[in-house]
Amino acid sequence: MLVIYLYRLKRTYTYTYTYTYTYTENMPVHTRKNLNNAKSLLEQSQAILVVTGAGMSVDSGVPTYRGSGGIWTRSIQVGDECYSYDEISSLKMWKTNPHLAWGFKASFYHTMNTLEPHEGYSILLNAVQNKGEYFICTSNVDGYFERAGFDTSRIYEVHGTIQKNQCTDKRCNIRNGVTDAVIPDIDPDTLLAKKLPVCSFCGNMTRPNVSMFGDYEFFEEPAKHQRKRLNVWLDKVNREQKQLVIIEIGCGVNRHSLRMSNGKMMSGEENAVA
Ligand SMILES: [Zn+2]
Repeated sequence: MLVIYLYRLKRTYTYTYTYTYTYTENMPVHTRKNLNNAKSLLEQSQAILVVTGAGMSVDSGVPTYRGSGGIWTRSIQVGDECYSYDEISSLKMWKTNPHLAWGFKASFYHTMNTLEPHEGYSILLNAVQNKGEYFICTSNVDGYFERAGFDTSRIYEVHGTIQKNQCTDKRCNIRNGVTDAVIPDIDPDTLLAKKLPVCSFCGNMTRPNVSMFGDYEFFEEPAKHQRKRLNVWLDKVNREQKQLVIIEIGCGVNRHSLRMSNGKMMSGEENAVA
């Protein structure tokens, strides 16, 4: 099932079209009609904002969090201990057992980095490049849009990215910013990180520049900077009275932190999880 929400902005009004498509050989007439409507909206558009959630990377083999079989719903066995996903991914775990926190994340990140952005990314890239004006807003931390060739100055990664590390010292982050990610090797039996990566500036441990559960130490500056670019872009599109179409892909059918309202981001980022 693919759920696409299309928003068409006209002056201050937002027309919202919500289509749920189930691809079958015998597609119902109304579904075909909706698909044609969506196609025509896309053809008429002069700017495209693509909003994606975990569902976007499922076809690459990356599991979702909340979806059926999603990693959020499973418990994680490490030796004799059993952890919930939010427990093992919490800031508290990074502080009390960084070898386990890094080990769990590293096993996941190594998988993401081994997998490839699926064909849908290149199809989408062609479509938005042909349009000229586009922006990507994603809650995914896998860095697949960049890897698929999208312009990095047109990407807003709301929850950060596994491609960058930050220092565990806040002051060091402010001084030096984020660095290219170093992801530690792990012991497959214990799931513990073999060697914790350290900051080249101050020697403290580095961690992913990704928002965790209860993560008041997430260094938000890079994401804030990207969001500022998105807002500048939206203002320009509005000023030039371009027909903007917003495509939402893989954000699920439930309330989502990225859901748009009247063309503006709803402020759900404080609930960020990754
Ligand atoms: Zn540092």
